[in-house]
Amino acid sequence: MRHTPGMNGHSTLTRIAAVAAAGATVLAVAACGSSTTGASSGSQAVPVVASINQWGSVAHDLGGSNVNVTSIMSNTKVEAHDYEPTSQDVMQFTKAKVVVVNGAGYDSWASKAAQSTSATVVDAARAAGKKTGDNPHVWFSAAVRNDVADAITRAYTKADPSHKAEYTQLNRKWHAREQALEKRIAAASVRTAHVRYAATESVAWYLAHDLKMSDATPRGYAQASANESEPTPGDITSFQKALARGDIAMLVFNSQEADSVTDQITGSATSNGVPIVSLTEQMPQKYDDLLAWMGALVTEFSKAA
Ligand SMILES: [Zn+2]
Repeated sequence: MRHTPGMNGHSTLTRIAAVAAAGATVLAVAACGSSTTGASSGSQAVPVVASINQWGSVAHDLGGSNVNVTSIMSNTKVEAHDYEPTSQDVMQFTKAKVVVVNGAGYDSWASKAAQSTSATVVDAARAAGKKTGDNPHVWFSAAVRNDVADAITRAYTKADPSHKAEYTQLNRKWHAREQALEKRIAAASVRTAHVRYAATESVAWYLAHDLKMSDATPRGYAQASANESEPTPGDITSFQKALARGDIAMLVFNSQEADSVTDQITGSATSNGVPIVSLTEQMPQKYDDLLAWMGALVTEFSKAA
């Protein structure tokens, strides 16, 4: 961009005005949307932005018609860990009163975008005592889901105190469903306990842990995957040998992080008759919410065990 002395102030002001106008448009649309879904009592729905659709769905469940949730990432075919937000993505945050990010280094672009707003930020990983360096796929963890739900409810009550009673009720309803899911996990773990699984990426590590399964991913490969570096040819060979030897009873395949290396590993699993559970980072569109998706995955793990 060309910097003409004396023009800078003007162009900044123009930009601010443009941002404000765009923000107003988004708010107007949001207000229209909420009125068509019958949002109550003449008040405007709380604008909520979630970086990823799995937490966005929880934010929706907990806010009902009092909130209007926008999820930025919902595509199960886009590389999740190295996601580069568009300027439109970043723009979404300016209208938010409540922002839900995953944290633990998974979506630092979102935490950064939220910093420049006055929104109340729920950092899912932090709400559950997880930090950068821990496995960031925290939505697969029952303990984390419980803590995040309560943190979202607190943020809603702060942003919109007049609907506190409704938020409390929706929180209770949500916990009842989470408890039902955890009962299913406990029931499934009769089959899945101690089943030795390996993963092309440690995406569902927390769910497998809740199902009492044993992570048998060959060490070199697992370390390379966790560091987002390329496994060596030796790492790949030992993974394939472990599958051929029968050391691994189930392969968990993250189809959102697929490449020629994971092709070789799923190929070995198939030719050795090792069942594959295929899943993604973001929640597939066909599920209503995170709990429904987790329930379906529990069934799949149980079937494959
Ligand atoms: Zn991942």
